[in-house]
Amino acid sequence: MKKNKTHPATRVAQGLGWECPVTGAVVPPIHLSTTFARGADYELRAEHDYGRDKNPSFKQPEAMIADLEGGADALLFSSGMASCTAPFQALRQGDHIVAPDIMYYGLPKWLRGFGVDRGLSVDFVPTSDMAALAGAVKPGKTKLVWVETPCNPVWRVTDLAQAAEIAHGAGAQLAVDSTVATPVLTRPFEHGADFVIHAATKYLNGHSDVMAGAVVAKAEDELWERISQHRALTGPILGSFEAFLLTRGMRTLFLRVKAASQSALAIAKHFEGHPALTHVLYPGLVEHPDHEIAKRQMEGGFGGMLSFRVKGDAETARRVASSCTLFKPATSLGGVESLIEHRGTVEGPESLTPKDLLRLSVGIEDTDDLIADLEAALKTVLSR
Ligand SMILES: *Cc1c(COP(=O)(O)O)cnc(C)c1O
Repeated sequence: MKKNKTHPATRVAQGLGWECPVTGAVVPPIHLSTTFARGADYELRAEHDYGRDKNPSFKQPEAMIADLEGGADALLFSSGMASCTAPFQALRQGDHIVAPDIMYYGLPKWLRGFGVDRGLSVDFVPTSDMAALAGAVKPGKTKLVWVETPCNPVWRVTDLAQAAEIAHGAGAQLAVDSTVATPVLTRPFEHGADFVIHAATKYLNGHSDVMAGAVVAKAEDELWERISQHRALTGPILGSFEAFLLTRGMRTLFLRVKAASQSALAIAKHFEGHPALTHVLYPGLVEHPDHEIAKRQMEGGFGGMLSFRVKGDAETARRVASSCTLFKPATSLGGVESLIEHRGTVEGPESLTPKDLLRLSVGIEDTDDLIADLEAALKTVLSR
């Protein structure tokens, strides 16, 4: 009974208090078995029968994620993209979707191709602009409104309470890609969202060594049942070893996210107005267009992601990235090590991302070291 009074940081650090009833081990084993023997009356001994649907190794991190978000249930998938596409695979032909014009680039690519081929109709609008969102939903026809906040790679923040009101007013549900905010900084269900999606590859695992995704449901409703059937029947599940690593990684989630957020804020403030830069994009800066919403909606920090726009072209930006020595010039985000990436190169010619933009994922290294690394990299560019 006392359990729910504790802070989520306490519960996740303790793996929800799991202990082996036989040995007392406090770290769960890795269950490799794909099948589970039944009892004397052919009954299931626990809820497990076959590994494509349920495996004790991923049930524990699923329970931890549901608890972190305050949701009714969570399902883990084999990647962030497997979890992002799951709700859309569960929709029906003819269903209408509203999605952001700027977001994690893999999803619009899937929606424009496979999504449309399967009979979904999609409108891409700036979903952080409530007038644009309200104009895009079609009452009775729109089934899902998708938002990402803060969104890749410009970190616009969406007012989730308003977005939920607009979605629900049209009879649609609101799904939030909360990968960058993490449940440490924002819990979308508290603002009216219906589904929360995580690329658990990023902050939830936090060590750049697991591919994983999660869908969390506020209620076990009809769409949730279909998402869960989609996973059970097609099998994009998490491997047992990955589930073990994810459980281990999540135990330090609060420490990592708080450290990265503090460091990112210090870096954003330090480089604001730097002569080699035209913009520093970070929701924690007073100048950011969504700073007021971010202050209301994000608790305890503004996240570890920010972007620089350098004075110069794509080539200049790429040169800055490769001149860093601590920030690794690599894709992905949310790990303990800092990364710097030229998104334009990765997203290709049709990308709307400014060509002079560099995306920074701030890790948990010493902040002054990180600032010195970026200063040195920007200097090599300015001195050319
Ligand atoms: C990385 C990412 C994804 C996709 O996750 P994968 O694990 O790479 O498939 C989806 N959304 C956001 C916001 C991401 O950063």
